[in-house]
Amino acid sequence: MDLEAIKGDIERVIVSEDDLHKRMKELAAQITSDYKDRDLLLIGVLKGAVMAMADLSRYIQRHVDMDWMAVSSYGSGTKSSGVVRILKDLDRDITGREVLIIEDIVDTGLTLSWLRSNLESRGAKSVEILTVLRKPTAAKVEVNVKYVGFDIPPDFVIGYGLDFDEKYRNLPFIAVLAKHMYE
Ligand code: IMP
Ligand code: MG
Repeated sequence: MDLEAIKGDIERVIVSEDDLHKRMKELAAQITSDYKDRDLLLIGVLKGAVMAMADLSRYIQRHVDMDWMAVSSYGSGTKSSGVVRILKDLDRDITGREVLIIEDIVDTGLTLSWLRSNLESRGAKSVEILTVLRKPTAAKVEVNVKYVGFDIPPDFVIGYGLDFDEKYRNLPFIAVLAKHMYE
């Protein structure tokens, strides 16, 4: 990504590339120890969790299985609709599996609370959640998130998998989108 070309689209960087990797490494160590002698199936939520899955899984010191789901709760705007649709379902049955959902961000929490009960209803043995970012002020629904990368303010953010209208996912850091981009 040519950072010079998109400088004007960004208000400020809130999590640097270094800090993201450091935190993913810490969380991976915690997961490696928490799941010692247990099954571990990582379920990435497309497309936002792609970067987190790639980095985190490489820091986890053991075998993991990976699967992916794509759900949609947003249109092309910046507000959550609360309506969740499955765009791509899991490839495999998860009955009896120990699932760790990998998500990019918890905003209202609507997507994750829906996803957790969906996976539980399929007979998973356990369902835990890892999110790179959490906006605590926006939490409309109580979701118990076991692993949190960073708590951030309620601004609309981009980068490290997070998009605005499908762009900026390939930024290596997390930044606040400049208001003039959507207001
Ligand atoms: P929730 O259902 O409101 O928690 O929304 C979760 C989903 O909305 C995330 O998985 C993201 O795809 C998207 N989202 C929420 N906040 C942001 C943001 O600040 N930037 C980009 N996408 C976001
Ligand atoms: Mg997402």
